[in-house]
Amino acid sequence: MIALSGVLAIGVELARVDCASLGVWVGLGMVLATAPIFVIQIARYSGRLAGKLERSRALYQSLVEHSEDGIILYREDRILFANPAAAALVGLSVDQLQARALSELVPPEYIEGIRERHAKRLRGEPTPSHYEVEILHSDGHHIPAELAPTVVPYRGGRASQTVIRDLSNRRELEARLLHSTRIAAIGELASGVAHQLNNPMIGILNMAEVLSEQVADEDPRKKLVGHIIAAGNDASTIIRNLLKFSRTPSEGFEMVSLSRLVREVLTISEKRMLHHDVAVAVRIAEDGDAWIRGNENMLAQVLLNLLQNAQHAIGDHGQVTINVEPFYEDDERLAALRVRDDGPGIPAEVLPRVFDPFFTTKDRDQGTGLGLSLARQIVFQHGGRIWARNHPEGGAEFTVVLPLYVREAGPAEAGLETRAFATSGIGGGRL
Ligand code: ADP
Repeated sequence: MIALSGVLAIGVELARVDCASLGVWVGLGMVLATAPIFVIQIARYSGRLAGKLERSRALYQSLVEHSEDGIILYREDRILFANPAAAALVGLSVDQLQARALSELVPPEYIEGIRERHAKRLRGEPTPSHYEVEILHSDGHHIPAELAPTVVPYRGGRASQTVIRDLSNRRELEARLLHSTRIAAIGELASGVAHQLNNPMIGILNMAEVLSEQVADEDPRKKLVGHIIAAGNDASTIIRNLLKFSRTPSEGFEMVSLSRLVREVLTISEKRMLHHDVAVAVRIAEDGDAWIRGNENMLAQVLLNLLQNAQHAIGDHGQVTINVEPFYEDDERLAALRVRDDGPGIPAEVLPRVFDPFFTTKDRDQGTGLGLSLARQIVFQHGGRIWARNHPEGGAEFTVVLPLYVREAGPAEAGLETRAFATSGIGGGRL
């Protein structure tokens, strides 16, 4: 207390001596009095800043972590950072990828180019914003990819941040498009050639018939003329098939009941292939028939071809299952028609080619290689799709999916077994 009054006395004394020092004292007092308020405000401000920083860091992390594209950060040959998508693309964990050199991620022929562009970017020279390379997967296969690099500040220096987009899907689609364009071109060419060949072939056959009538039965030339007629008939069949490629898509479209279609085609097949001991099981959805809009004859041809191929694959004894099933896909009403056999299945190298025109593994007199390509053409014309696979339990399975027009409640076409997994075929159940 004595000390405090002493200090005050000195203060007052100083104030008396010099008025300016009074101002210093008052100022000092005010600063001391308001300092806690400033401290609180600075603390609040830095708290808000830290929150903002944290939110922005979390947002950045979430964007980078969940990006579908790979993102890496590199300087020279060192990978400084990689997101999970980049790691997944090359089949490594993030840690494994971050421990790799950039040059290990691309085939050697791309490294020089990447280095040059990196150096140019750092010097501020213009470089392409996107370019394509191949990325090396850890199992050794090459992945087509697009790189979009930019320079970013990193720990007091600069580094290249690169977005890596996997182009595999795009490449596959391009290849498929090219393939279907080629197929369409072949189809067009084939039907053009068929038109040209049709008349001369009719002429050859007519002349051969005339010749045959003029040659006596015991004449050895009779047999030769018979061969000409047989070969001519084979050629006519191919020509007729080729001509079907040029049919107008919606020619004669009407309501077609899939269960009736199955029954009719089975009746035809039964007559044609009486000799084979092939059982046919028909499975049709319990709660009604599937009707689609289409040309019944053309669709019958699709099913007939699938059945003939199935029978050929099976040989003399076996089982074919036909399945008709309406279903929904993204609100679209569709009907699936599946034909499965218990034959040897389709070899892996054959599977991608089965729908190609003229592709056949059968002997010359047994196959033209046009059945499935024609089937696909017909299904496309009906707005549907068709594919083949080997069933996990063995045998080949062909699926035709068509837009469903109406699903009729109640039993399917009379005479057809409608129980699920009905195993009795139609008309005896043998092909
Ligand atoms: P083709 O019957 O004249 O050979 P397709 O276009 O109908 O012509 O069939 C092409 C090829 O697809 C056949 O030669 C065969 O190799 C294969 N294939 C078709 N269906 C089956 C099946 N059910 N099982 C095994 N292979 C099949």
